[in-house]
Amino acid sequence: MRIGILYLVSGPSGSGKSTLCRRLATDGLASFSISCTTRPPRGSEQDGREYYFLDRDQFQAMAGKGEFLEHAEVYGNLYGTMRETVVSLLREGTDVVMDIDVQGAAQVRASKDPLIQGSLVDLFVMPPSEVELAARLKSRGTDTREVIELRLRNAIEEMSHWQEYRYRLLSSTREEDYARFKALLLAERMRVSRIV
Ligand code: 5GP
Repeated sequence: MRIGILYLVSGPSGSGKSTLCRRLATDGLASFSISCTTRPPRGSEQDGREYYFLDRDQFQAMAGKGEFLEHAEVYGNLYGTMRETVVSLLREGTDVVMDIDVQGAAQVRASKDPLIQGSLVDLFVMPPSEVELAARLKSRGTDTREVIELRLRNAIEEMSHWQEYRYRLLSSTREEDYARFKALLLAERMRVSRIV
């Protein structure tokens, strides 16, 4: 039996990466890694579905016990991936998709665990252009101009890390993006080193 693929996906907000990750899971192609976070739930988000919502003390206690495969502070909130959950899914041959920021991705890449190293596929989802990114952020309609400008600045900083990834997806339409996103996972499954 093969070890699962750890499909690690980063990209600025507005790149569409979260939608891609969720859709892969909905289509039954991978298990979505539910992260822990100290940020409060947004909209219809539910504990245990989008995230495990923790307070800072709970989060720090888990971090202190080494329970996270990676963790990072993003826009003032803590986010982390539970090591045990990911490792057991990979061992049972399930592919896992993770939506994480560039700091978290760097930590996973630096992992000395041969299981993680052997499973890792990292992808950066890039918005088509700064102009299009600004349009996408504005079209969400919920943020003030200051917030949009802050997100745009952060996005541009995040985008400077794309060369740390093995793969890059330059976003176009939703359907085209998903077709390529899925194709990468399916191609990775055929790697001889994963089969034998
Ligand atoms: P949001 O709060 O909008 O859901 O996510 C904010 C940022 O945190 C996104 O860039 C997302 O990829 C990142 N993120 C979500 N979960 C994790 C995680 O477990 N670890 C890290 N390092 N980043 C995460």
